[in-house]
Amino acid sequence: MVTPRPHAGSGALFERARAVTPGGVNSPVRAFNAVGGTPRFIRSAQGAWLTDVDGNDYVDLICSWGPMLLGHAHPEVLAEVNAAVARGTSYGTPTEPEVELAEEIVRRTPVDRVRFVSSGTEATMSAIRLARGFTGRDVIVKFAGNYHGHVDALLAQAGSGLATFAVPGTPGVPTSATDLTLVLPYNDRAAVTAAFAEHGQRIAALIVEATPGNMGIVPPEPGFNAFLTETCRSAGALFISDEVMTGFRATAQGGWGLDGAVEGWTPDLMTFGKVMGGGFPAAAFGGRADVMSHLSPEGNVYQAGTLSGNPIATTAGLATLRRAGDEVYAHLTAAGNAIKAGITDAFTAAGLPHRIQSAGTMFSVFLRDGEVRNFADASAQDEKAYAALFHAMLDAGVYLPPSAYECWFVSAAHDDRAVQTVLDALPGAARAAAAA
Ligand code: PMP
Repeated sequence: MVTPRPHAGSGALFERARAVTPGGVNSPVRAFNAVGGTPRFIRSAQGAWLTDVDGNDYVDLICSWGPMLLGHAHPEVLAEVNAAVARGTSYGTPTEPEVELAEEIVRRTPVDRVRFVSSGTEATMSAIRLARGFTGRDVIVKFAGNYHGHVDALLAQAGSGLATFAVPGTPGVPTSATDLTLVLPYNDRAAVTAAFAEHGQRIAALIVEATPGNMGIVPPEPGFNAFLTETCRSAGALFISDEVMTGFRATAQGGWGLDGAVEGWTPDLMTFGKVMGGGFPAAAFGGRADVMSHLSPEGNVYQAGTLSGNPIATTAGLATLRRAGDEVYAHLTAAGNAIKAGITDAFTAAGLPHRIQSAGTMFSVFLRDGEVRNFADASAQDEKAYAALFHAMLDAGVYLPPSAYECWFVSAAHDDRAVQTVLDALPGAARAAAAA
C-alpha cells in the first residue's frame, strides 16, 4: 500500500479558495468532486512533472487538459515568450506573430482563413454565429457527449425523442437558447438522416468533435465524419469540426489528419484551441474563404476581442507548433503505447474491467468492458473504481484527470523516467480500484 502524501499546504489553500471562489476552483474539472478529496495546488511544473505547494512531484497526465504538447517550461518556448513579454504584452493592434501563427494553422489544416479568439468556447460560439449568418438559418445539430465549451446553445441535452429540440443542460440557459439545438446520439447515421430529413432546410450547421474526447475517446466509426460532411453539403448546412482538443495533438494535422486528410474531404469551418496557444489563452476558428469573408470587418457578421491574437499567446503557440514535428508525434505515440500496455497488463492482472480507446496520439481509459461507441456506452463506467484508481495513482506520484470521462495526456517531455513512474504505479492502483 502507498501512503497518502502530505498535502496540508494544498488543504489550506483550498480552504482559502473556497471562501472566495465557488468550489475553490476556476473551472469545475479541476475540483475533485468526482473522485473526492482535495485538489493539489501546483506551484511549478517542468517537463513531464508537476510540483505541488507541499513539495510533492507528480507525473502529469493532464498536461493542462491538452495544451502542453512539448511539456512544461520548454526552455526554447520560454525564451521566445520571455523575449515577447519584454516587448510589451498587448497592443490592441495587428502584430507579426498573429500572421505567422495563422499561416502555420493554414499550412497544417484545410482552413483558408482563421480568426483568433481567447478560448475554445469563444471559438465554437463564433463559428456558430458565422454559420447562422452565412446560411441565414438558425438550427444547430450536435451530438450527446460532445463538449464544445460553455456556449448557451451547446449546453443542451437531448429532448424527449430523436430529432426533437433540446432542453438546457444547466440552470441559467434559457430554453430559447437551446430550442434551436438538436442533440443526436453519436455515431448514429440513422439519427442524422432522420434529423436532416425533418429539419434540413432550417439547419445552419452541424458541430461535432473531430474525434470526441470529452466523454473519453470515442472515435468516429469509419466514414462517419465523411458522411456528416456529405449530409451537411446536400442540405446546404455547414459542417463544423471542433478540433479544440484534437487540433495539433491527435496528429500534426489534428483529428482531420486521421480521416479527412486521407479520405479527401474538408470541413466548412473548424475550431482550434489548447495546443495552438502553447499554454496561454488562445483559440481560433477558421474555414472556407467564402464563409470566413462574412466576418466583420470584411463582412457583416460581428465578432471581436480585446485580447484576441495576443502577442504573448500567439508567440507561445507558434513556438510550440514550430517544434511539433514528426519526432514529437512519434514520441507521444511511443509514450502512450508504453502506458497503454502497462494499463492492459496491470488491469488484467487485477481483474479490473477496462477498455482503452485511441485517436492518433490521444487515448483514454474506460472502466468497463466492450466497445464504447457513444455517450450512453461511456456513461456505463465504474466511477467508484475510478476514484480509487485516481487516488492510488496520486499517492504514487501520478496526476490523472480527476474524472473517468477524460483523456490521459502525455507530452514530448514524458521520458523513460516519467513513463516508468506511471508503470510502477499502475499495478497497485489497479488492485485498489478492483477492490473498491
Ligand atoms: N471544444 C472542445 C472539443 C473542447 O475539448 C473544449 C475544452 N475542453 C472546448 C471546446 C472549450 O474550450 P475552452 O475550455 O478553452 O473554452
